[in-house]
Amino acid sequence: MMRQYELVERVTAYDPNADEALLNRAYVYAMKAHGAQLRASGDPYFSHPLEVAAILTELKLDDATIVAALLHDTIEDTDTTRAEIDRLFGPEIGALVDGLTKIKKLDLVTRRAEQAENLRKLMLAISQDVRVLLVKLADRLHNMRTIEHVPPNKRQRIAEETMDIYAPLAGRMGIQWMRDELEDLAFRTLQPEAHKTVSERLEALQESSARVVSEIESVLTRKLAERGVTATVQGRLKKPYSVWRKMDRKRISFEQLSDILGFRVVVPTISDCYRALEVVHTSWPLVPGRFKDYISTPKQNDYRSIHTTVIGPQHQRVEMQIRTKEMHEIAEFGIAAHNLYKDGVSLNGHKPDALESNAYQWLRRLVELLHEGDTPEEFLEHTKLELFQDQVFCFTPKGRLIALPRGATAIDFAYAVHTGVGNAAVGCKINGRAEPVISELHNGDEVEIITAEGATPSAAWESVAITGKARSAIRRAARDAIRSQYAGLGRQIMIRACERSERKYSDERFEPMIQRLGQSSLLDTLAAIGRGEIRSDDAMHAMFPDFREERKKNQPVAAREEGSGWFGLRKAMGMRFRVPGRKEASSAVPIRGIKGDLPVRFAEGGAVPGDRIVGIAMPGEGITIYPIHSPRLKEFDDQPDRWLDVRWEIDGETQRDRFPATIIVRAINEPGTLAGITQVIGENDANIDAIQMINRSGDFTDMRFDLEVWDLKHLLTVISLIKALKVVNTVERLNV
Ligand code: MN
Repeated sequence: MMRQYELVERVTAYDPNADEALLNRAYVYAMKAHGAQLRASGDPYFSHPLEVAAILTELKLDDATIVAALLHDTIEDTDTTRAEIDRLFGPEIGALVDGLTKIKKLDLVTRRAEQAENLRKLMLAISQDVRVLLVKLADRLHNMRTIEHVPPNKRQRIAEETMDIYAPLAGRMGIQWMRDELEDLAFRTLQPEAHKTVSERLEALQESSARVVSEIESVLTRKLAERGVTATVQGRLKKPYSVWRKMDRKRISFEQLSDILGFRVVVPTISDCYRALEVVHTSWPLVPGRFKDYISTPKQNDYRSIHTTVIGPQHQRVEMQIRTKEMHEIAEFGIAAHNLYKDGVSLNGHKPDALESNAYQWLRRLVELLHEGDTPEEFLEHTKLELFQDQVFCFTPKGRLIALPRGATAIDFAYAVHTGVGNAAVGCKINGRAEPVISELHNGDEVEIITAEGATPSAAWESVAITGKARSAIRRAARDAIRSQYAGLGRQIMIRACERSERKYSDERFEPMIQRLGQSSLLDTLAAIGRGEIRSDDAMHAMFPDFREERKKNQPVAAREEGSGWFGLRKAMGMRFRVPGRKEASSAVPIRGIKGDLPVRFAEGGAVPGDRIVGIAMPGEGITIYPIHSPRLKEFDDQPDRWLDVRWEIDGETQRDRFPATIIVRAINEPGTLAGITQVIGENDANIDAIQMINRSGDFTDMRFDLEVWDLKHLLTVISLIKALKVVNTVERLNV
């Protein structure tokens, strides 16, 4: 175990102004507090906080962080209180330890929702002070280093969480060595066999390539020296996990992996970097398409370097990373190298933008998402997605750099600029040319977003956008748009209902009554009426207690609404209609309001009893029945004469007919998915007329089911049961 003076010396070595007395006090306090407690390994418990503190000295963190590391388990595991820490070590350290205690409870929960909620708490704790995250990462690193003492069943979960959350977080903070080590330890725990195989291969390669490595090292050092550049050239092998990931992703064997050999060239200045690049490219043939200049466009975690790949002396691919010493420090120490963690800089603080590191900005965006995200699961999904993406760099016309995850589209770009820009986007220009907003962006693209006032984002964008910010904004906007559409319809229904009973509708009059309908807002109530979830008669009762249902009266339509756009009378009155192709026994559509011999059919997507419907006269073809929420009805807006006021005429007892309805199911590509869905449909007494795969992309397939159901309630039941299947992502009624 590290001695007290050793720890203090480590800190004062890089920070001569560190408070030695404070460090000494914390060391003694934590040791006493943990007393005789033991770790699973049998070591004294205090060895753990001490090792965590030691890891943080490698990042050269300030004394307050080291002290917080020493104390990080005291509140949770001993009699120590926050007040006592405040009293003995001051409120700054008190707050750090408190933050760490709060997120300590986060570990090791299996349920996805809880995991997501925990991640939220973690982010909120970090948003108070980034040092909390650095201590947390060191804490996790030490726990992973000693994971063999943990029971096997718990090991798996800790390793998964490390791989999913902590290693990417370390990477995002730019602390590359920590990310590598966390990944490697997690990989070893999760897949011991694979880890062993890859490590052995790498060792063998190291031996066999020793001669090539030293040849390249000496050639480069000599040629650079001839140009007056003092360079440190170092061969390096890829890490087992990054090799494994590549093999896994590209489905290739170890032998097929090309550039396992890598070199790092560290030079004094940026212009030396480009000189070194020239030397590399004139010494060996370069592999096209592998050159990346992260000096002119740094990665989101502030990583800067030039990457290139060449064909080495023995015809193997060799990757070169060229950087300055300063860039190297940032690559290894990331956010810690910026000293941003000092002086209580919080994410909500007032640090000028220009001084903000990218890692810091990223954290801030995550915290923003916390407030925007609708459910913890959504948040986790976004975070995981974002953590694992590479990035592309694009520019606004004014030259502002927008960094996005790889695969991002102009929609993501628009939302990254501003949520308002995203919501109002109607088109875009990429490098001066008009392109669809769903276009995928590439490094260096200049993107101009064209906006229009009052535009709303298309719901379909949600599956195109890949950033969390864009997806949650689109989801929210789509929900709002649909709701206000239904609310508008609901209001129309209420106005009509009032007119029918010779009363006057007003929002002001209705609003105080909505509680009786079990609703909390006017908009929600009207939307529920618009969707048919609340009957207008019930709403009328709520509004006018003396209201009596008047459906029986049902005056002739013609007398009522001659010439008005909606529900007016049409020339087809008085005729009877048939559904083509239906069995003789049930030839007449049980719809009131139209009679005659013209054929009646349902619009694509179908309509079922319970839907509010309208008939449209199709010259020469008969009548098409649309659900009233169909967007296609817009086409007939200016032809009021073709609108037919129709309603279902169905008696629950004697109903013998099924009705068509089409649903779109988005499900995970997995064997048995289709069987699972059809089983649910079958078991619930619905017929399947046709199944069609519409779209298979990546992990999901969209399937179209043409169903036959008894009525709306039946349909909604079937939909919700399909939704309940694990493999199913969304179920929507085809609305055309
Ligand atoms: Mn701990």
